[in-house]
Amino acid sequence: MSEDHGCLRLAGRPVADAVLERVRSGVAQLERPPRLCFVRVGDDPASVSYVRSKEKAAQRTGIVADTTVLPGRTRQEDLEELLTRLSADDAVDGILLQLPLPEGLDSTAALACIAPDKDVDGLHPVNVGRLWNGEDGLFPCTALGLIELLDHYGIGIGGREAVIVGRSQLVGKPAAALFLRRNATVTLAHSKTKDLAGVVRRADIVVAAVGVPGLIKEQMVRPGAAVLDVGLTRVDGKIRGDVSPDVARVAAALTPMPGGTGLLTVAMLLVNTVTAATRRQTRDR
Ligand code: NAP
Repeated sequence: MSEDHGCLRLAGRPVADAVLERVRSGVAQLERPPRLCFVRVGDDPASVSYVRSKEKAAQRTGIVADTTVLPGRTRQEDLEELLTRLSADDAVDGILLQLPLPEGLDSTAALACIAPDKDVDGLHPVNVGRLWNGEDGLFPCTALGLIELLDHYGIGIGGREAVIVGRSQLVGKPAAALFLRRNATVTLAHSKTKDLAGVVRRADIVVAAVGVPGLIKEQMVRPGAAVLDVGLTRVDGKIRGDVSPDVARVAAALTPMPGGTGLLTVAMLLVNTVTAATRRQTRDR
């Protein structure tokens, strides 16, 4: 943790390290190490690199991880058959289908083939329902990472105004549900929101998950707010967030980009894997 012009820098590394330590000790307590299966379809370079880094991160914590690669021109029924087979395999604790899929494949139908209790990305409709119902389940990793960051730095959530910009299934909506579960008053803003600046200015906690570099500017942020930047866009070879750096002049706390929220996503995937394995192994006893 370090401070810049009075603005607390919410670095992701120490939080991710603490989470990974928890994962290692969770793995050590299990009868057998969790097994996490990645499924990748095609050779999109970003997907190849994401899956490889997630697989390595898993292995470093003692999780057994492997990847099944299907050709880019795989038929929907073959993908669904693989996911159904992994779901029925007792030796498998977690399944992650890397998205996006190549054109022509239906990701919603494919995700529905993953057993909800092995759905470590938290995208199966059963887990979406559990999230909004306040039940136990497996929930999307980037959204879980936001809560982890705030908790780590002792930033309160209950009773505070959280404005989440972006309403995707992957980040915005699950973040809204998690903040609601933690008793925040939640607003979800999006591309059709009128007076985005006025809405964001109400927030004690701002989450920017859009993919428009520098969208959130200093004048839009209430002095003293905590600002979490999820957006990640490559501009001229550099990574830019959704939050303009001048926001540090008014915010009380701000995640750096890079080095902030992104580091938590993979860590929370591994938490989900240990959670899935622990629930399965204790249930089977
Ligand atoms: P997405 O599915 O494209 O959703 C973007 C959201 O932003 C949509 O809800 C869209 O509104 C909204 N939006 C677009 N332009 C806007 C504007 N001018 N003002 C207000 N809202 C606007 O993206 P995503 O998957 O949620 O990802 C969002 C960003 O986070 C991307 O940059 C992505 O790379 C990054 N990301 C980072 C991580 C990480 O680990 N750090 C993980 C996932 C994603 P509508 O719904 O009205 O179209």
